[in-house]
Parts: sequence; C-alpha cells; structure tokens
Amino acid sequence: MTGEITALLRADLRGKSPYGAPQLDVPVRLNTNENSHPLPEPVAADIEKALSEVVRGLNRYPDRDALALRADLAAYLGHGLDATGVWAANGSNEILQQLLQAFGGPGRTALGFTPAYSMHPIIAASTGTAWIDGRREADFDLDPAHAAAQIAAHRPDVVFVCSPNNPTGTALRPEVLAAVLDAAPGLVVVDEAYAEFARAGTDSALTLLDGRRRLVVTRTMSKAFAFAGARVGYLAADPAVVDALQLVRLPYHLSALTQAAARAALAHAGALLSTVDGIKRQRDRIVTHLTGLGLRVVPSDANFVLFGGLADSRAVWRSLVDRGVLIRDVGLDGWLRVTAGTEEETGAFLTAMDAVIAAGQ
Ligand code: PMP
Repeated sequence: MTGEITALLRADLRGKSPYGAPQLDVPVRLNTNENSHPLPEPVAADIEKALSEVVRGLNRYPDRDALALRADLAAYLGHGLDATGVWAANGSNEILQQLLQAFGGPGRTALGFTPAYSMHPIIAASTGTAWIDGRREADFDLDPAHAAAQIAAHRPDVVFVCSPNNPTGTALRPEVLAAVLDAAPGLVVVDEAYAEFARAGTDSALTLLDGRRRLVVTRTMSKAFAFAGARVGYLAADPAVVDALQLVRLPYHLSALTQAAARAALAHAGALLSTVDGIKRQRDRIVTHLTGLGLRVVPSDANFVLFGGLADSRAVWRSLVDRGVLIRDVGLDGWLRVTAGTEEETGAFLTAMDAVIAAGQ
C-alpha cells in the first residue's frame, strides 16, 4: 500500500496484514479444513439444474430474506427450529461479522479463549469491537470456573466459544458452556463450524437454545457439506436476534445463485454428509499414527488434528511442503494442524511425517 493511501486508512487498520492461509500449488492440501471429497455427481447435476433455472431470473433481486433457504436449514437442524430462528449469509464468517456489527462495535467488547478461531479477533477489529484475549489451560482445555471468572472480570458484550474448537479440535464440555452461559452478561456465540464431525456423545449447543435468548449457534456448509466454495453459513438463535441482524445485513446479501445452490445441496444432505464418517476415520487414523510417533496429539471432534511436541514446527512444516504436503502453521510454537483428507491424502501426510520424524526433526 502506498504511503498516501495508508495515511487515509482507519488508524486502527494501519500495519495490519490480511487473514489468509497460503494457497500453495502442492499435490496434497490439508491446511484449511476443507472437505477433500468433491460433490457426488448426482448432487452436482441437481445443483446445476437449480442454478440454470435461476439464471433466467437474474434480472431480479433475490429473496432478500432467503426464507425458503432458512426453512430448509431449520429443517436440517431440527430441534423445533423454523425459519424465524435461523439466519443465513455468505459463509459463517459473514454471520460472525453481522453479529458483531449488531451486538459489538465501538465502545463494546468481545471475548474469546485463545487459541481459537483466528477470525474472531479479526472480525472484532474490523467492526471496531475491542477484543479481550481469554486464556485456556495449558492443555488447551477450558476450566469452567476459570472461564466464568474471566467473563465476570471483563463483562464482555459478546463471548465466543468454538465447539469443536479450531485449531485445537476438541468439543466444549457441557459444564464449560453452562458456566459461560451463567457468567456472560451479553450474547454467547457458540461457533459450531465442525459440529457434524464430533465424536459420539457430544451434544450440540442447539439442545440448549430453547429459553436461552442470548445464546447463538453458528454453523456452516463449508465443512461437513463439502460446500466451501458456495459460501453458505448460518445461525440458529432466538428470532429477536435474527430480527436484530436485519439492521446490519446488506439488502440482497445472499445471491439467487447461492440460495438456489444451497437449497439443492440441502435436498441431498444425506449424500453430502456421507463423507463425514470416512473423514472421522481418517482423523482418528491421524491421531493414532501421530501418537505412535511419540508426538503430543489433542483429542479431536473435528475434521482436523492439532499435534505438538515438535522441536521446530516451522522446519517440520517446510519439510512437509518439500514432500508435497501442505498443512497449517497456526502460530503455536511447537504445534501444527492437519486436516483429515481422503484416505490417500491422509496416507501421503502420514508417510511424509514418518520420513520427517525419521530424519530427526
Ligand atoms: N468458524 C470456524 C471455527 C472456522 O474454522 C471457519 C473456517 N475456517 C469458519 C467459522 C468460517 O467458515 P465459513 O466462512 O466458510 O463458513
């Protein structure tokens, strides 16, 4: 950026770098927690058909309220939800942004427990919301009393928790969420981008929505639904929260193409979600294999695994890239995060790891 433009930029944005994982052209890309499986052919064909019908009407603006899509998302979620308690946007990132535009903003604060999804503080900054870095325990777990004490000390307008947490992978324990909900004076946003990958026995925060007006659960079609390129995220909350978001959403924010594609995809939810069990198997395979290599591995309810015990995580990341495997350096010294891919991709990663560890890194 030239000096002249920098001088015009909002002071609080000067010197910042844009968010983004490296998009390197290597054979095995396991760095952004995408679903490696392409859409099944019959699903792709139906989406194409739905899009071609919409194309003829693109002279008109789309349904501003995306009501049909919201009803479909509510039906997918269950828990007695209907369209009034569901809102959709271009990825859950836009959902998070709208939440902070409405409930955060200048003079307000948001708190999250680091390390968590790195976009939470970035979206806070872009909406002028002051960010409070909450702390986790040394093993990345959250202790209910410690979490509640931090919330009580700061009284943030918005609290973010991720379940399962990115980058650590573990789902929130119910007693932690209960403590957070009790302590928080404002909105509690549970980011459930990876909920569909949770191990058996993990309850979604959706089960707690009834009667809790300040609880918001965010979801995405980017991960389990293998639909990251379409950009569809959503939330479930009290209808009053959905009403509040109407004040900040741009009119017609979800294109007719996006709405049609998402609805056609949801009509095939079963087929799209059929990759989830296989991905969970690859995730568990990674956990077992890396544990066998003597590494520290965080229990995962997601489609990725955080592993540590690496003397030089940068060097390991680099050696993996040299072997054609891209994973994620999440900025935690000694730790790296890998997405569970197809059986072949996961195998390529594990073989590369064997070689890297054998080489003494
Ligand atoms: N929340 C979490 C925890 C994530 O990891 C991601 C994607 N990396 C998102 C939200 C945003 O996903 P999207 O905007 O694709 O829905």
